Amino acid sequence: MSTTRIRVSRRTRALLPQNRGRARGRTLATFLILAAIAVAGNLVVPEPVQADGDSFAVLSPAVVSQATALRDKALQDDRAWDFVEGLTVEVGPRFPGTAGDRRGVEWALATLKAWGFENVRAEPVTVPKWDRGTATGRTVSPFPQPVVLAALGGSVATPKGGLEAEVLRVESMDELGALGDGGADGKIVFIDERMERTRDGRGYGAAVAKRGGGASLAAEKGAVGLLIRSAGTSTSRIAHTGGMRYREGVRKIPAAALSNIDADLLAAQMRRGKPVRFHYELTTRDLGTAESANVIAEVVGRERPDEIVILAAHLDSWDLGMGAVDDGSGCAIVAAAAKLIAELPERPRRTIRVLLTANEEFGLSGATAYGERYADAMDKHVAGVEADFGAGRVWALRSRVPDDRLPVIDDLAKLLAPLGIEPQGNRARGGADLRPLRQALVPVFDLSQDGSAYFDIHHTIEDTLDKVDPEALRQNVAAHVTLAYIVAEYDGDLGRAPE
Ligand code: ZN
Ligand code: ZN
Repeated sequence: MSTTRIRVSRRTRALLPQNRGRARGRTLATFLILAAIAVAGNLVVPEPVQADGDSFAVLSPAVVSQATALRDKALQDDRAWDFVEGLTVEVGPRFPGTAGDRRGVEWALATLKAWGFENVRAEPVTVPKWDRGTATGRTVSPFPQPVVLAALGGSVATPKGGLEAEVLRVESMDELGALGDGGADGKIVFIDERMERTRDGRGYGAAVAKRGGGASLAAEKGAVGLLIRSAGTSTSRIAHTGGMRYREGVRKIPAAALSNIDADLLAAQMRRGKPVRFHYELTTRDLGTAESANVIAEVVGRERPDEIVILAAHLDSWDLGMGAVDDGSGCAIVAAAAKLIAELPERPRRTIRVLLTANEEFGLSGATAYGERYADAMDKHVAGVEADFGAGRVWALRSRVPDDRLPVIDDLAKLLAPLGIEPQGNRARGGADLRPLRQALVPVFDLSQDGSAYFDIHHTIEDTLDKVDPEALRQNVAAHVTLAYIVAEYDGDLGRAPE
């Protein structure tokens, strides 16, 4: 007996309802009919009506055809991989203010020049310089064991020889805030809040609040030290670092993140009911400031060269891993997308500017410097998108444009649909490095990457090249090049974003 065989092509998959946010009635009906026939009979599903057959409201057939060609070429192009592989192998970690950071700037300048971009330049940025030194920790009593932990970026050191105290466990910043004055006197506060795994990364917002502000809140309650459960979803015995800050006028206490496994261990020891004492030593050093740079490369527009479309990512990384995923991948995606546009026989109307920022991780120095340097030119910035969520496939498009420009976004969404990208409204946030653009009401876009696995390795020693999937990287480039080309070539303008 033969079995029913349904061949689902890549294009058909792209048209599946879950892959295509606003599947139009005709397309959806076509799919359902084909699926019903296939299930009822012993059929092979033929290629369905293609998205290319859709009508476009605003974009001309020539623009649609060029964007489609770029998108499809990107799916066959491995230059993003070449970029991230080169950056990772030849430079590696690029922590602000370090020799690696400076080598990263030199490497990016040389590579972008070799790729043939115009106006390749470094624009100086002053960055904070901090050294993590070493981090060791252990439970002391009643069940002594070593643990894995990492200093949070910016933390002060413990006293030489370490710090030992009883642990006070809370499950959230709210619970810590609800303690009375002196509620954590002399204790090491342990914020044991688990980060939720999601595709859109929404669990990170809550997780990062304790990382950023936990130390000052704990100190206000009398604590001598802070431990957090890592702001990450790793199930390996690795700790996730990340930036923290001290509030002005509050005593500075040393802050570290435990691996999820060691957070489990500490919590389980505490559930035994006896006071648990903990010892840790951090040898961090605040080294003032250092010089770094934003790296810029351009494809100069043929008709309105002073109008700028920003493709951003950050060149710096944390020190623990290789900075392959965060944000070597993002740099590779935007550079490769711009490169494909540079190779067109005719430039787009507007200028594409690749912006690889300095020190996103530890205070957004590059974005701030860019905003100051180009404050008077913000009205000439017409759109921005940033890739800084790893290398997972893009699954959603969000825009932030005036309502009367939404027909352009609808057209763009049609071009992105075959990549499995669905439109998700007009409330894009833009990446952290796009903050100066957002403040100036420049339209921004989010091409949301699948972050389901991103926080397993985020800011850890596991941020390495093997975590980058070359095929997902190509899909990312395809999404970014399509968007960049449309906004750079569109013959109207996108106006200013709604506040
Ligand atoms: Zn990042
Ligand atoms: Zn990061």
